[in-house]
This record gives sequence, C-alpha cells and structure tokens, in this order.
Amino acid sequence: MTIPSATVSRLVTYLRILEELELNEVKHTSSGDLAEQAQVTAFQVRKDLTYVGRHGTRGKGYTVAVLKREIIRVLGLNQRWKVVIVGMGRLGHAIANFPVATEYQFEYTGLFDVDPKVVGTAVGGLPIRHMSQLPQFVAEHGVDMAFLTVPPERAQAAAEKLVEAGIYSILNFAPTVLRPPQLQDEKEISKTPERHNVTVENVDFLAGMKRLAYYTRKPDRPEAEDI
Ligand code: NAD
Repeated sequence: MTIPSATVSRLVTYLRILEELELNEVKHTSSGDLAEQAQVTAFQVRKDLTYVGRHGTRGKGYTVAVLKREIIRVLGLNQRWKVVIVGMGRLGHAIANFPVATEYQFEYTGLFDVDPKVVGTAVGGLPIRHMSQLPQFVAEHGVDMAFLTVPPERAQAAAEKLVEAGIYSILNFAPTVLRPPQLQDEKEISKTPERHNVTVENVDFLAGMKRLAYYTRKPDRPEAEDI
C-alpha cells in the first residue's frame, strides 16, 4: 500500500510528538492531543493512523510506545539504511558529525568529494573518497540513500552520478531544483526500469529563512537599497 506523501509528512510529525511524549514519560495520548500538537484536525489524525493499522475512534486513546513502534515500522525506520554523504565541505562535515542520524539505523557508510584537499582525510573514522570511486563503492556496499551537500551549481551533475551508480534516494541540501536525473544510455534505461524511481527530498534552509522573514517583517523598517 502506498501512503500519500502528505500523510507520510504528518506521520513523521506524529512520530516526533510521540518521541517527546515518551521523553516526558507520558504513556497515553489521543487523536485530539496529537492533532493539537501537529496543528491538524483530530479527524485527520485518525484518518492518517489508519495507514499504520490504527483505527482510532473519538475518545479512545493510543498507547504512546505502541503507536510510536507502529509508525516506525510503517515508515521503514526499523530497517538499517546505508547512507553516503556527497560533498564534504562545511555542511557535509556537520552532518557526518551529527549523532542523531544514527538513532534510526541511518548508517554513514561512505563520504565523497572531488577536492584533492579533502579526499583522503577522515571524519569520524570514515575516509573521504573521490567521487570516481562511488560506482565501485555502491556495488560493494549496497548503498540505500545519499545526502547531497555540494554547491547548487554542482548538484544536478552530482545527482546524475548518484543515479548512475545506483542510488535512487537523495536528500538534497543544495538550494536548487533537481531535474529527474537522466541516464546517458537509453538502452541501459530500458534494461533497468527501476532507475526511473528516483526520490528526491529537499531540505531548504534558505526557504525557511524566507518564510520566517515574511512572518517577522516590519512595515516601518527601511528597505535595503540594493534589492
Ligand atoms: P562547501 O563549499 O563548504 O562544501 C561543498 C563541498 O562539495 C566541497 O567540499 C566541494 O569540494 C564539494 N563538491 C563540489 N562539487 C562536487 C561534486 N561534483 N561531487 C562531490 N563533491 C563536490 O559548501 P557548504 O557550505 O557545505 O554547503 C553545501 C551545500 O549545502 C550548498 O549547496 C549550500 O547552499 C547548502 N546548504 C544547505 C543548507 C541547508 O540547510 N539545506 C545549509 C547550509 C548550506
């Protein structure tokens, strides 16, 4: 069963809320509580939770630990995911050093860059390899997803290299819209139709800043002259 992407996003939000409840040693919750914290309706929560096999009814609560476990299972967060980070500059280093990603079995297996000053150094015990080694690395290690942290003007070409190497799930941090990565060889595409199933999730830090500026704007503040 395919879950609609808006529901997947809300399930991730419910999971974060359940984690917080668990941290605060709250054992039970309701669709009303979840709805309030997620800023959706209780009806929406109950509808979303039917996708995790929970047919909640009005007034009947959920056990936090059970619901959390079920959402984790449906999202696939109980599986081990092998991740590579491509672009080991400031952000790539920060992410590689960020421990929370390991909480749900996201395992950094490889770090890649093209800069000779960076290639050959190591972060957290993992060596940074050159991008030219990516296809062989993927073939040997079976990589599931990539975090793309290259400059925006390099992101499309790097994404295409990922797809060519056999990585079809990309978390893109570059503030650019990636076109569906295409392969050069048409025959190769027809032989492996699954290559069209490329999923790109964008993490846009700048978009968040722009939205925040809108909500923080002050009509009486003088405008910057060069915009
Ligand atoms: P950076 O310049 O410090 O690092 C980029 C790295 O990518 C460099 O080490 C470079 O050698 C490498 N690189 C360039 N082309 C490559 C290629 N084809 N293959 C592999 N590696 C390649 O940049 P940064 O500050 O770390 O930012 C990285 C990206 O993340 C940028 O696109 C930036 O706009 C974006 N960014 C996003 C967020 C966010 O929250 N989403 C926050 C900050 C930066």
